[in-house]
Amino acid sequence: MEGGVGAILTTSGQMATLLSVLNLCSAGDHLVSSAAIYGGTVNLLSFTLKRFGIDATFVSPRATVEEIRAAVQPNTKLVFGETVANPALAVLDIEAFATAAHAEGLPLIIDNTFPTPVFCRPIEWGADIVVHSTTKYMDGHATFVGGVVIDSGNFDWAAHGDKFPDLVQPDESYHGVVYTRDFGKAAYITKARCQLVRDLGVCPPAVHAFALNQSLESLPLRVRRHADNAQRVAEWLEQRPEIESVNYPGLASSPDHDLAQKYLPEGICGVISFVMAGGRDQAAKLLDSLKLASIEVHVADSRTCVLHPASSTHRQLTDEQLVACGVEPGMVRFSCGLEDAEDIIADLEQAFAAIA
Ligand code: PLP
Repeated sequence: MEGGVGAILTTSGQMATLLSVLNLCSAGDHLVSSAAIYGGTVNLLSFTLKRFGIDATFVSPRATVEEIRAAVQPNTKLVFGETVANPALAVLDIEAFATAAHAEGLPLIIDNTFPTPVFCRPIEWGADIVVHSTTKYMDGHATFVGGVVIDSGNFDWAAHGDKFPDLVQPDESYHGVVYTRDFGKAAYITKARCQLVRDLGVCPPAVHAFALNQSLESLPLRVRRHADNAQRVAEWLEQRPEIESVNYPGLASSPDHDLAQKYLPEGICGVISFVMAGGRDQAAKLLDSLKLASIEVHVADSRTCVLHPASSTHRQLTDEQLVACGVEPGMVRFSCGLEDAEDIIADLEQAFAAIA
């Protein structure tokens, strides 16, 4: 679906990201990442990997080619970004990141979880490796946690062998195989399977792969419905007096609308976020008043679900601390399911009436 030469399923999206990085980085190495990425990935790149000696520098998802290149160090091994960031919904300028990475002899890894390959195929914009949390739309029913790493086969590891010796020199742990020589375009994904899947034990159970395969058959139908619902809900919310702002790249008012039109012309994803005019208290009340939408930390499955970070995942933070980490106190993350858009809107309408 992504147009790669090979892929590996992993036990989670987090493991897909970790595997994609560890296949290139060792202690003493460095990576450059867009700052607009999933919070769990921020933790992985800036705290956990740091403990293993791998450092990260974060740049804006709107950084210019020059700004991205300026963040590269002699020990940088890759550039990382997320097509549509969870939960900020910032759209990445994939071409700029690919151009900068390639000018520095580095591969670009893209987390394409939210749009799925139905709406965006990052390899066509220059990405070298793509990762997903299949836990989201690919599974689609909140059934199994999973992830996948996809290799485009396009990056010329041999041309940059000084940076990637493990890909071009004999692997002592695998009877002297030389990945670029013996596996050609599939060098990266074969190395990941032979070394990391073997050593870290990250194979998903077969039943997860079976269920994922079935879900993928309906993915194009499902994500179009999710995206249509999100567009309609976002347009409706934008007109409501209870709402201070709506964040969805499909809206003409979005600062990322231009990038969405370029990279995601047929749809974006089902997730939107909005800020309640009444701030933290009104947002918490709204969640208690919704009937169809259930309160969940999970996103991107068949049922509409909603999260108010300030009263749940981030409830220990003051309003000032929330703003400092990019979460408005009145911000609600709203994941549109597969229900009729009218039903989702009716649920919001009755909840607004209940808390008025
Ligand atoms: N990438 C993105 C964009 C995500 O939204 C998430 C989870 O929310 C992950 C990766 C991590 O995936 P998982 O929960 O499958 O480990």
